[in-house]
Amino acid sequence: MSSLLTSAYLISVGILLMAAAHAAILAHGSGHPRTNWSFAALCLGFAGFQLFNAMQYSAPDLPRALAAHRWANFFSILVVPLIAFAAASLDAKKRPLRLFAGLLGLACLAIAYNFMSPFGYRFYSLAPDQVFTFPWGESLRVLQGQPTLVYRLVRLTSLCVMVYTMNVTLSLMRMKERLSSMIIWIGLAIMGITLALGSMSDSGVIAMPYLGGFGFVFLAGAFSLLVRKEMLAHAQQEQRITRALAEAMQERHRANERADKILHQDALTGLPNRAGFCIRLENLLGLNRRLGTKLAVVLFDINHLGAIKGTHGLTTSDEVLRRVSQRLCARIRDSDVLARTRSDGFALIASHIRTDAGIGVFCEKLSSLFADPVEIDGLHFQLTASTGMAIFPNDAMTAGELLAAAELALHEAKHTGTNQLRAFDPSMKEKLQQRINLESALREAIGRQQFFLCYQPQVCATSGRTLAVEALIRWQHPEYGLVSPLDFIPLAESTGLIIQIGAWVIETACSQLAAWQQAGHGSLRMAVNLSAAQLLDPQLEDTLLGALARNGLAASDLELEITESVLIQDPEHTVDRLVALRNLGLRLSIDDFGTGYSSLSYLRVLPVQAFKLDRTFVDGMDKDTTSLEICASTIRLAESLKLDIVAEGVETEAQARQLRELGCPIFQGYFFSRPLSADAAGRYLQRPQSSPHAPIMPLGQAPTAL
Ligand code: C2E
Ligand code: MG
Ligand code: MG
Repeated sequence: MSSLLTSAYLISVGILLMAAAHAAILAHGSGHPRTNWSFAALCLGFAGFQLFNAMQYSAPDLPRALAAHRWANFFSILVVPLIAFAAASLDAKKRPLRLFAGLLGLACLAIAYNFMSPFGYRFYSLAPDQVFTFPWGESLRVLQGQPTLVYRLVRLTSLCVMVYTMNVTLSLMRMKERLSSMIIWIGLAIMGITLALGSMSDSGVIAMPYLGGFGFVFLAGAFSLLVRKEMLAHAQQEQRITRALAEAMQERHRANERADKILHQDALTGLPNRAGFCIRLENLLGLNRRLGTKLAVVLFDINHLGAIKGTHGLTTSDEVLRRVSQRLCARIRDSDVLARTRSDGFALIASHIRTDAGIGVFCEKLSSLFADPVEIDGLHFQLTASTGMAIFPNDAMTAGELLAAAELALHEAKHTGTNQLRAFDPSMKEKLQQRINLESALREAIGRQQFFLCYQPQVCATSGRTLAVEALIRWQHPEYGLVSPLDFIPLAESTGLIIQIGAWVIETACSQLAAWQQAGHGSLRMAVNLSAAQLLDPQLEDTLLGALARNGLAASDLELEITESVLIQDPEHTVDRLVALRNLGLRLSIDDFGTGYSSLSYLRVLPVQAFKLDRTFVDGMDKDTTSLEICASTIRLAESLKLDIVAEGVETEAQARQLRELGCPIFQGYFFSRPLSADAAGRYLQRPQSSPHAPIMPLGQAPTAL
């Protein structure tokens, strides 16, 4: 016997189970979980109904058909409240829960009745066994009989529920859910027709199998298709979201890179800035630690970049920095790091160095950096730099300690002189502390009157008369004792204190000169030393004129000594300043002449009245011919430029005699007198001024030399 309809029932069971699974899946994360869950339950209910229908129709005997019939009835009752519940979940105006509770109660009573009555809840009695045969030969066992009241009630209730469901569907249609509502309508129509046919079959009007479940199978199938469509749309939306997320992440990555650039890159040179440098230093330290190699941190400051900025503008000084960065880049390896961590300079990391010799090679490369001048728009800048270096693991182990050590070395390099490369040395810490202490002591020195001046005579080579005295500052500190100007003047210059100290020197020297002039030394001049910072001070003229006026001195009584190295640092600007001072009537002289390599053409334009021949040449005169030659040619140069020349550091009679023979007109040195206190210098001036051929004050006989 062919079992086509039975198979159709079983297929419908499969479709319903699949629809139930779909609905259950959709219930998670859907906007209508209640609808989906109730639909899933409904599908299961109808699946049970179809299954037991199939079992009933294909049962071999009546008792088994009746047993299956009871279970089919059970499911057919159960679906009524479930349909109502599913429809209500779609209803905009929610029905009271009590109604569904009532429906469920009724369903339970009907179910109980179904299992207790002898023929199930549908029939009071059964008509004789009916067998329905299809045209293709399949025979089904159909049950017919007298319908019960409960059955009629359940039918009525299910009719009401269907009317309610149609009502909800109408409102869905109004809400533009056209496709869904159309499917529900068709499904309901099929169910309605099959329900009517079923009733007719039950009451014996016709004999045919119960097809009510197939109406719902249509609904469930359509639902599954809709779910599939929704899932596809969902997947597409997920793809869109994933794409949008990926784009957002890429944009974020780009924004991070931009922020990283701003945070970690120097805008002027494109090199890493301080923050970028520190990150790289940490990374490279880790790497070198693992590899057991050395790493050098080099801090590199271009000297006098501020002066270039002041005289040629910011654009030029920026260009200088760019050019220097290019030169440095060309000298380092790819694995090294160059960064702009300071306004006037750079920081370097030379990594993976195996031996100390490797560090030496690296330093040599740096030292040749300024062999050629930097040329910008036709201007040539002969640059110098101060460089400080610290090495891992020799000097420090951590990035912070390494940087601090390199800073110390740089500090030391700056104080030692131009173009210095200093490697860190533990004693630097101590020195720095001493310098800090000295600086704070220096700040208090003027207020506490710890400075005083001593005076060293400048003697005429022919008459032996004291023509002038040079004021030399001394610092008497209660703890440090007598501090040499060589130790504290550079510190005063670097801290700016020199302006205040220099003004005090000018005032004190002028008042002392006035006292001596009043005591009868009317033609005596006073020489004071001027440092570079004072020369840049716009108040200098006022300070000088004020001191001269207060002490009733002529400008020509005062001579300003400017060391040659100061003059050549910024020639153009210095010449302008010197002309201004000269125009006030002051005398000017070049101190330590011969040590600064001034060019002859430059000397010609300097408005000075005297050179002071540096004492190193005087000292070397009787030891080497070069010094003697320099002394002779400097004296000749001064003669040809019609300038005075003072020989400094004349310590012996032989030196004095030799210099006199070379034509030097003025001497200063221990042979004549050491620097003297004001009182001692006063007494010195009172002495009979005799010929230098018979020296006035040989070494060792000076009164209270300081
Ligand atoms: P300077 O201006 O060249 O002064 C001459 C220095 O040579 C003085 O050293 C002096 O004591 C020393 N001297 C003089 N004759 C002899 C000699 O025969 N043999 C030797 N070995 N030395 C001699 P001092 O007083 O220690 O001053 C050192 C430098 O400090 C000065 O060199 C000057 O550049 C600077 N200085 C001194 N006082 C002042 C000041 O008031 N202001 C500024 N800015 N600098 C000052
Ligand atoms: Mg001097
Ligand atoms: Mg000198």
